[in-house]
Amino acid sequence: MNIKQIPNKVKQTIEKYKLCSKKDKVLVALSGGKDSSSVLYLLKKFGYKVEGFHINLGISGYSERCLDSIRKLCDELDVKLHVYEMRKEQGGSMCYIRTGVQSKEKLNNCAVCGVVKKWVMNKEARKLKADKIATGHNLDDEAQTVLMNFFKGNLDLSINSKPIVGVVVDKKFVPRIKPLFFIPEDDVRTFALDKKIEHISEPCPCALDSYRIKTRKFLNTVDGKEKLNIVNNNLEMMKDKKVSSEVKYCEVCGEPSRGEICKKCKMLGSKI
Ligand code: AMP
Ligand code: ZN
Repeated sequence: MNIKQIPNKVKQTIEKYKLCSKKDKVLVALSGGKDSSSVLYLLKKFGYKVEGFHINLGISGYSERCLDSIRKLCDELDVKLHVYEMRKEQGGSMCYIRTGVQSKEKLNNCAVCGVVKKWVMNKEARKLKADKIATGHNLDDEAQTVLMNFFKGNLDLSINSKPIVGVVVDKKFVPRIKPLFFIPEDDVRTFALDKKIEHISEPCPCALDSYRIKTRKFLNTVDGKEKLNIVNNNLEMMKDKKVSSEVKYCEVCGEPSRGEICKKCKMLGSKI
């Protein structure tokens, strides 16, 4: 893709899938990386009401560099930033929380971190009265997820691999939107460098999910068109699949949940 086409392609995704409107307050989940920083840059440029949200995971060195970069980005774009401090709110870094979980259950680092991050994002976004949470997920992330679920026989999990997740009407659930859903990762990188969008290039030192790494390596051997086919086929397959309309609330934390107890509480007990 010619990177000049990225803003228009993102605009089309926003319009076609009704990701957000100009009235919405959109909280952009910022990791410090090129993807979420580009989402903030683009949504701000398009005139949406955006604020930044970062979870400081407390990973020594790395987290400080992420936060520095995010503060700079938000200053440059004149965007309000909210920072959630894992150590302060939870009494420990993500590494500490994860180690506790992994001593009881064999789960990879990203699986634990992903569940906790989603839980924090939804709860905090609701507190901040945000209408949408925007994340930096790009075409490669989504194609990887779909393929991994396919390989593992977890087809149902790919239902969330779409540009907007969680439109089930529930007042406690803040829908998550993915404006870069159709943009290949390499193009986002080139775009961020070209537009001099502040970000860090360092990967998370804890991201050691070997299955995802293996899938990413495989997907790097196919071109953008084929990645697009993977996500488009999945969208087509999931088109008529209904997400259960019955929304339950976790008996431990009160957050929306598929079961009696949400994934986060199952993993962590009532720690958070
Ligand atoms: P990841 O699961 O690390 O691939 O991240 C996917 C998306 O989640 C990113 O593009 C961000 O939008 C968001 N995200 C990841 N880490 C953080 C963080 N520490 N704070 C806020 N948002 C995050
Ligand atoms: Zn819970």
